[in-house]
Amino acid sequence: MKIRSVLSAAVLAVATTFAATQSLAQERFTLRLAETWGPNFPIFGDTSKRMAKLAEEMSDGRLRIRIDSANKHKAPFGVFDMVKAGQYDLGHSASYYWKGKVPETLFFTSMPFGMTAIEQYAWFYHGDGMDLMQEVYEPHNMLSFPGGNTGIQMGGWFRKEINSLEDLKGLKMRIPGFAGEVFAEVGVSPTNIPPGELYTALERNTIDAVEWVGPALDLRLGFQQIADYYYTGWHEPATELQFLVNKDTWEELPADLQAILKTAMRVSAYDMLVQSQHANAEAWANIKEEYPNVQIKNFPEDVFQAMYDANKKLLKEAAGRNELAARIVESQENYLDKTRAYTDISTRAYLNTMGEVE
Ligand code: CA
Repeated sequence: MKIRSVLSAAVLAVATTFAATQSLAQERFTLRLAETWGPNFPIFGDTSKRMAKLAEEMSDGRLRIRIDSANKHKAPFGVFDMVKAGQYDLGHSASYYWKGKVPETLFFTSMPFGMTAIEQYAWFYHGDGMDLMQEVYEPHNMLSFPGGNTGIQMGGWFRKEINSLEDLKGLKMRIPGFAGEVFAEVGVSPTNIPPGELYTALERNTIDAVEWVGPALDLRLGFQQIADYYYTGWHEPATELQFLVNKDTWEELPADLQAILKTAMRVSAYDMLVQSQHANAEAWANIKEEYPNVQIKNFPEDVFQAMYDANKKLLKEAAGRNELAARIVESQENYLDKTRAYTDISTRAYLNTMGEVE
């Protein structure tokens, strides 16, 4: 009798522990994500969808993510505030959109003359990047993670060729962010116009030039039909999107779902870089074939030098704003120096060698 009751107590204890584990393991979460993009926006929108799908599959349905595109929440540039307030659990956007609210958010998308995608991912994941980004977002009750990279963006579509600094004076161009400020320093009048109005603005000469992203996304807006000069990029060498997570939501998730969410964000971010390479190559082949009017151009050397100098000056001003900005700029500059020295003897050396035998 005695042995039996001890045994059944043990069985009961095991069963209770098992049930507790089971109920914890089966707790389900449905998180809501607000994205800056409209519905079915290619590449960017594919990335948030891929992240949600991965999270659901890896968690066997315990972590579901419901995505609201901009048409639903009506606040493409309200993602920061909505995730901060907990109105949404997650966001998919770009850090530099928040520079008007929190100037230090600017540094986590892409900087003119800055790191390439592989260099910047190395800074984020193996250098100080993630810690510095978290320091910026922490006071706003959020976590921020890399959310997908476009690769090197093109320098934009121009209706007239740029042969000297003089040609930039008074030129009206759609170019946002820090690059717009750099261009302004060399005489350009930068403007920001919503994507849906860009084609008409260029066609009607409201603007003389426009930068958007690269062949895959530019082709859809039709600039190749009305501009002949497609310049190579300098201003957004590694534009990284962003996943935002409300901190209270994050803390409610069990550790395994946090790990799954982190992994889904990281894999889908890398995958956007790969998809961008693929889609840009396809679109560029198409442009070359269908639009022989399009010529690829580099800005003349004196233009590049003037922009480089203007960028240095503006970065120094930005770093002077506060101690955190100074540390971020210093970290990026030091990291770029070291990582670029290696890129020079590896990727650059290889591409140069290939250039000689082709
Ligand atoms: Ca751009």
